[in-house]
Amino acid sequence: MRFGFDIDDTLINLREFAFHLYNEKLNENVELSVFKALKTIEIHEAFGLDKEAGGKMWNSLAEEVYYSSCPAFDGAVETLQELEKNGHEIYYITARKAEHGERTKNWMIENGFPVKDDHFFCGMKDHEKIHTINRLELDYYFDDKPAVLETLLDIPTKVYAIDNSYNRELDIPRLASWFELKELISE
Ligand SMILES: [Mg+2]
Repeated sequence: MRFGFDIDDTLINLREFAFHLYNEKLNENVELSVFKALKTIEIHEAFGLDKEAGGKMWNSLAEEVYYSSCPAFDGAVETLQELEKNGHEIYYITARKAEHGERTKNWMIENGFPVKDDHFFCGMKDHEKIHTINRLELDYYFDDKPAVLETLLDIPTKVYAIDNSYNRELDIPRLASWFELKELISE
């Protein structure tokens, strides 16, 4: 089968990693429970920052957030490796900016994800992901972002939301742990 995955906050715990960096850089000690309750993908609210200051903070840390030691979600690497081993096709579809494509691909490889050169797509807008997903005729696609998921409600691909506080309003099948995937595809 053909599987497609978003990367940030689908396979790797990017927001939470950034949250800890924000605490460190701002010399704050905001509790994780505040982060876990956020209804926005952006995390600046947890630190009392407005959109502009939050955007600046994010951009100033993007390098560290993207390319240092952000952990994968539990089971993500192992699950994708097993899919690959069992002969499935694995595609990555990320809306990170195009200039981050090559380094992101290499970072994924270094962190154990199975990545084939022509199975990696980067640099599209959220609402443009649907074109890649349709063209690849994916059987399954996983993403966390409401702005993406909302565009995928009527396609043949089975689409799953990676469960998070900011996407619970969406009435869509969801995955809470990568350890559940095996069971899900055997249904
Ligand atoms: Mg994402």
